[in-house]
Parts: sequence; C-alpha cells; structure tokens
Amino acid sequence: MYDYLIVGAGLFGSVFAYEATKKGKKCLVIDKRNHIGGNVYNEKKEGINVHKYGAHIFHTNNEQIWNYVNGFVEFNRYTHSPVANYKGEIYNLPFNMNTFNKLWGVVTPKEAKEKIEEQKGRVGINNPTNLEEQAISLVGTDIYEKLIKGYTEKQWGRSAKDLPAFIIKRLPVRFTYDNNYFNDKYQGIPIGGYNVIIEKMLEKSDVRLEVDYFDKKEEFEGIAHKTVYTGMIDQYYDYIYGVLEYRSLKFETNVVEDTDNFQGNTIVNYTDRDTPYTRIIEHKHFEYGTQEKTIISKEYPIEWKKCNEPYYPINNQQNNETYRKYKELADGEQNVIFGGRLANYNYYDMHQVIGAALVAIEKEFGDK
Ligand code: FAD
Repeated sequence: MYDYLIVGAGLFGSVFAYEATKKGKKCLVIDKRNHIGGNVYNEKKEGINVHKYGAHIFHTNNEQIWNYVNGFVEFNRYTHSPVANYKGEIYNLPFNMNTFNKLWGVVTPKEAKEKIEEQKGRVGINNPTNLEEQAISLVGTDIYEKLIKGYTEKQWGRSAKDLPAFIIKRLPVRFTYDNNYFNDKYQGIPIGGYNVIIEKMLEKSDVRLEVDYFDKKEEFEGIAHKTVYTGMIDQYYDYIYGVLEYRSLKFETNVVEDTDNFQGNTIVNYTDRDTPYTRIIEHKHFEYGTQEKTIISKEYPIEWKKCNEPYYPINNQQNNETYRKYKELADGEQNVIFGGRLANYNYYDMHQVIGAALVAIEKEFGDK
C-alpha cells in the first residue's frame, strides 16, 4: 500500500514525489511513456542531450524556485537569443534595435520608434477585428509581414485574418541592442540535462513506466490512499462534458554527419509561409557542445487528435467553459489531487509548474 499514486512522471509529479518522500511518505509514480521527465525529458544521442518534446529553457524571476532547482543541479549560463530567418534574411529576436537596424537602417531608438509609429499611422487601425489587424496596430507592417504573419499562420494552421485578435495581446518590442529573449532575472540549462533533476527527485519513489493509468484503473484504485493525477482532466472524467482541444507538434530529428555546427544557434525561426516548419532546434548549443556531429529538429505545428501529443491548450471561451465544468468535479474529489499542465488545462512554464507542485504540497502537509 502506498500513500500516493502519482500518475505522470513529469515535473509536477516528480516535485510532488520528491517532497512527499522527504516527509516519509511512500510513493508510486507511473507514466505511460517509456521514460521519466514528461516533456522536459532529454534523449541522449551522439553525446548530445536532445530536447525530445521541444526546446526547454529554464527561466524565472522567482529566487526561491531558482534556488530550489539549483539544489538538484548546477545550471550553465545559457542565454536564449533566437534568430528569425525570413527567406534567407536573418533578424534578431525579440524585436529590438538590432532587428530594426537590419530592417530599416535606423540607428537610434528615436528613429526606430518614429518608423513604427509612421507604419502604424499609415494603416490607421483603431479597433482590430482579427490577429492581422491587431499585430499591425502594435508593430506596423514590415515587422508583421516579415516576422509575424507566416510564423503565426503556420503555428495555428489558419490565415491571420481568420484568427481572433486576442491571441496577440501585446508584442514585446525592445528599444535596446539586447538579444536576450527573456526579461527574467535567472535563466540557464541544467548541466547534464533535465533528466539529472528528475532522476534525483524520483530517487526515493517506486517508478513504473509504460503503464497507462486508464488501462489498469481498477488495479490502481486500491493501491494508494491518495492519487496525484497529472494527465488530461477530460480523459479522467471520460470526456463527459466533451473533449478539450490542443495544438500539437511534430518533430523531425536528424543527426547531421558532415558538420559540427549546422546553424550557429539553438533556435532559428522560419518566418516565411512557404517553409513548412516553424523552427529548427540545434540541441548541442544549449550546452555549448563540442561533439564532432550535430543534431537538429525541425518543428512542425500540426492538428491535435487523441493519438497525438497534446502540447498547447487552446484556451478559447468554449474550451475554458468546458474545463470549468471538469474543474468543478475535480474540486469535489476527496482523494485525488489534480496538478500540472494537462490536469489544469493551462500552459505552464517549468518554474510555474514547480511552484504549483510546491503549493499542492503545502496544502497537503501544511506544517506537518
Ligand atoms: P508533463 O511534462 O506533460 O507530464 C505529464 C506526464 O503524465 C507525461 O509524462 C505523460 O506521459 C503522463 N501521463 C499523462 N496521462 C497519463 C496516463 N493516463 N497514464 C500514465 N501517465 C500519464 N517551459 C519553460 O519553462 N521553458 C521552455 O522553454 C519551455 N518550452 C516548452 C516547449 C514546448 C513545445 C512545450 C509544449 C512546453 C514548454 N515548456 C517550457 C513548458 C514545460 O514543458 C511544462 O511546464 C512542463 O513540462 C509541465 O510539466 P507537467 O508535469 O505538468 O506535464
């Protein structure tokens, strides 16, 4: 008999397991995948940590969370600075003075601001009704056409004119020559990869892989006093209120034999409409790898079906309303704790999911 059955060996489940075992509780962690770590898992190939479920950069402003993760592993000084490739032209991201200089030859922030205002003014959109109008009203036509339109249309599989304006609330524009993507105080990549953290977190738990909770629900029902569930909330309730929708991704990963450096950067976004993928990840650069070969992943956004990985929740009004009904059921459960991105139907960054798991622990144990 276990104290906790934890469904999902991702960050939420692993933090919960670590903290509960620290308090002397017995935990069984199961995952339907053949590895621990959930979406932060790194698959080692050719000596390179491949971010199997997409590029993961740890960043936070929260000192407590930063200290917490550094208690498991040391982080390197990786600073995220992606670039955009528009038909062979390279631009720095996020939009900053380097981007504006390349686009228009402007040198000072004043010149850049004037250029943006001039473009916004020329189009004269006051009440944007779709994503295209919203983006142009925020940054003008050049940035929209070269760096936003194609990328966004590929990401959502629809024309920007058919997408709601609310998807883009604001666009980060920076009037300094600073290519650091994040504004957070702390960022980096765990030295040796994310698996190092997860392995330490699960050290004192029993772990069973390639086990789907729903295939063995009866067996698991009596195995623990409480369940921590980090899978899809609609699946837990057998979709009684309908299916919550996601956007999915496909990764095409290849070892490149004839060069040790394919693109000179971890991430290059392809912002034109014709290139079918949205970005290429070159994994070795996360850890300043010196291997003779390199590994790249092309990332393709795809429609989500139940057989694909659910990556990004589509938090539109209808889905949020459906989620609210499931949440009401979940709130009434005595012996099940729902946590993580799938059970909360929310996009969480890693620091947020760790924070949420620590809050769940606090709620469960208090000062006990
Ligand atoms: P998950 O990692 O999804 O773990 C849930 C686990 O539950 C999975 O392993 C799954 O197999 C298992 N499971 C589900 N159902 C069952 C079942 N029925 N039976 C058994 N097991 C089950 N965050 C950042 O901070 N920085 C980034 O750069 C970043 N990049 C990202 C890029 C992409 C493409 C995506 C999608 C997310 C990114 N994130 C990033 C977010 C990060 O991945 C999440 O915060 C984190 O992985 C969430 O952890 P979790 O435990 O909630 O979920």
